[in-house]
Amino acid sequence: MLKQAQRAYNFNAGPSALPLAVLEKAQQELVDFKGTGMSVMELSHRSAAYEQVHNQAIASLKELMGIPEEYHVLFLQGGASTQFAMIPMNFLPQGKKAGYVVTGSWSEKALKEAKMFGDTYTIASTKETNHNRIPKLDELAYEENTAYVHVTSNNTIFGTEWFTFPDTGDLPLIADMSSDILSHPIDASKFAMIYAGAQKNLGPSGVTVAIVRPDMLERANENVPTMLRYDTHVKNNSLYNTPPTFGIYMLGLVLEWAKEQGGLAGIEKMNREKAALIYDAIDQSEGFYKGHAEKDSRSLMNITFRLASEELEKEFLAEAKQAGFVGLNGHRSVGGCRASTYNAVPYETCKALSEFMINFQKKNA
Ligand SMILES: *Cc1c(COP(=O)(O)O)cnc(C)c1O
Repeated sequence: MLKQAQRAYNFNAGPSALPLAVLEKAQQELVDFKGTGMSVMELSHRSAAYEQVHNQAIASLKELMGIPEEYHVLFLQGGASTQFAMIPMNFLPQGKKAGYVVTGSWSEKALKEAKMFGDTYTIASTKETNHNRIPKLDELAYEENTAYVHVTSNNTIFGTEWFTFPDTGDLPLIADMSSDILSHPIDASKFAMIYAGAQKNLGPSGVTVAIVRPDMLERANENVPTMLRYDTHVKNNSLYNTPPTFGIYMLGLVLEWAKEQGGLAGIEKMNREKAALIYDAIDQSEGFYKGHAEKDSRSLMNITFRLASEELEKEFLAEAKQAGFVGLNGHRSVGGCRASTYNAVPYETCKALSEFMINFQKKNA
């Protein structure tokens, strides 16, 4: 069996690292899932064996995130990017406005899609400072007739993260949690909807999780194509058509793994320790490394930093690659460096990066 030490130092932003234990379990069961003589991929999505996988994944997600019983957990396709359109299609009626907090590229994309369906407004934007922070709660002002409030809980590209969410009262709060779902405990009951593409913290790409409060369905628009309506998937337990069965199976394994880590509180503790290794290397570098995010907005999932010059960044990234680190290039739209330290990235991998950063600084300061 492969040891963790033989695995890549994987800091990919998504798809990203999966827990080794999960991959090994999937490998064990790959050609014969629980005595069926078939792979999960070969099971009918209407079979009892698959149904068990499907319903267990829903139950595990509810348990781990403390999702209220009446909420619907859906497994959809098309990625978080399809949710950018499905949300306004379903939840933005004529005569109302959708409010977006714009904290980075993904929020901008979500807003752009909503504009195609109805009226929108920007509740707050951090564009002026290149999205290096999360707005303070008192910067958020809602207009009359707001259909919903949309936030991006973790800004994957810029490296900022919400830790306290606004209290929107009666206004439905919707969050794109693609890159920090399951990374720390949240109060799920504050949200009318949470969604996430799976490929950062939940499993492989191909599944999108949507968690929807039931009253949202009552107010949903009627003239929406069948596959793009939430109630279609609610009524059919996400089995209206063929779901991404293998991805849902993998998600289920990741959720079991997450429970073994002490649930979200245990995972948060590990994530804080991991991120601290790298943020400390930045903070103790006397300016050799410059973090992009303001300290109180720093993401535990995506750590973004720059070096003094693009030359030096190139050298850093080239040497890091030589040393076996994967995925440290910043997103093409912002440059610099980014270490994505999702749940499945081991402590040792983060430790190795922090040591590499300290040594690189010693040689080049
Ligand atoms: C990765 C990401 C997306 C895009 O997800 P897809 O599943 O590729 O559509 C959207 N929002 C956030 C915050 C992301 O990190």
